[in-house]
Amino acid sequence: MKITFFGAAQNVTGSKHLIQVQDYNILLDCGMYQGKRNISNQLNKELPFSPDQIDAVILSHAHIDHSGLLPVLVKEGFKGKIYCTSATEEITRYLLQDSASIQEHDCEYLNDHLKKGEDPVFPIYNSDEAERTFNQFVPAEYFSAGGGWVKLTNNIRFKLYDAGHILGSAIVLLEIKEGGKTERLVFTGDLGRDELPILRSPEPLEEDAATMIMESTYGGRNHGPIGEIMDALEGIINSAAKRGSKIIVPAFALGRTQELIYVLHKLVNQNRIPNLPIYFDSPLAQNLTAIFSRSTEYFDKEFWKDFGFRKDPVFVFENLRYVETTSESKNLNNLHGPMLILACSGMAEGGRILHHLKNNIEDPNNVVLITGFQAENTLGRKIQDGVSPVRILGESYNIRAKVITLDALSAHAGQKGLLKRVEETKGLKNLFLVHGELPQSEALQGEILGLKPDLSVSIPALGQSFEF
Ligand SMILES: [Zn+2]
Repeated sequence: MKITFFGAAQNVTGSKHLIQVQDYNILLDCGMYQGKRNISNQLNKELPFSPDQIDAVILSHAHIDHSGLLPVLVKEGFKGKIYCTSATEEITRYLLQDSASIQEHDCEYLNDHLKKGEDPVFPIYNSDEAERTFNQFVPAEYFSAGGGWVKLTNNIRFKLYDAGHILGSAIVLLEIKEGGKTERLVFTGDLGRDELPILRSPEPLEEDAATMIMESTYGGRNHGPIGEIMDALEGIINSAAKRGSKIIVPAFALGRTQELIYVLHKLVNQNRIPNLPIYFDSPLAQNLTAIFSRSTEYFDKEFWKDFGFRKDPVFVFENLRYVETTSESKNLNNLHGPMLILACSGMAEGGRILHHLKNNIEDPNNVVLITGFQAENTLGRKIQDGVSPVRILGESYNIRAKVITLDALSAHAGQKGLLKRVEETKGLKNLFLVHGELPQSEALQGEILGLKPDLSVSIPALGQSFEF
């Protein structure tokens, strides 16, 4: 077996791992690089392997840093099947369409502002190319939900476990028969956490596995307990209500947004927060929320206790207003606080959130609420790190609003959760830590080696291969 790490290697984006076994090539994820524009563009434009040599893709979950280059793979000649859960397929369709339309828009803007001698730029794929990818999708459900094993060849099969990271997210367990022996490889994808609202906890494996590719986003840190989120939000919202503040939340269209709405709804039901308007300003997130609303079979026990038997649907309540058109979105600037505005994107790299930040970030009475991981070089990370002034849509702004980070809702396992996964995996010999900035992966590597000194723990570099 040969594994080559073509992305999410010593960083958190562009997840792509190639597994070559018995002349059969499996690509785990085909994610897009995000970050500095010129570097990402280069890495996204050309795939580091021949797409027509790939036999099958298994997609762990819908996030664009795991799925975003599937249209390029298909466009460049990949003819095989793309396996994932049906929820992942449905969400990926929205995310890839959104990604295509952002690229089309960005290129149009850049081409309209070309300086002398500069060449025009083109999207790496357009909406039609994104749509074509879906002809090759094949649903594969969680084993525990009756999905069974999926056979790739006579000697290779896989099954999916619930990763508890976002709706539809999966841990992939590959089983390979070779020379009378059976080898197993686990790919955690992005690993969720116990007790996150709505989603179930990551499932433990039933089999032993000698090789594991594990994410390490929070390899060096632990999150606050989930219970804190209710108290923290209660405090922030009550103080904003008193002061007439606007709370601006850069929202991840998927996951965090629905969890925040869930928690806000629960606080309203418990009369812990006043009736301040909550504007949900993202058509994409609204479409994704609709998928959540009809996927309740994936939800955990807490959901059934809180909302399962109530007449009010979880994502609809009196103060929550869905903002649809751009003019409605712009009109929010003319309204006075208190209010909470949720808008995409989560790392403030694009979308309607930029307008809300630009209009509100210089007012010391306002609050910017960061609710998830902010990658290096993103506007969200700069705001979180207190860099000021920052540039938003080409202009400079001083950050005077209060910036609060609430990472209790993080969709990624913290160090403890990752260590637990390593300890629970029986028969483990080779562990590869991916999807983490180097200090996080190294901190985790140190902890793991302290517990299991005989384990081989690698932090692969981009393009590095391992054969065993
Ligand atoms: Zn993810």
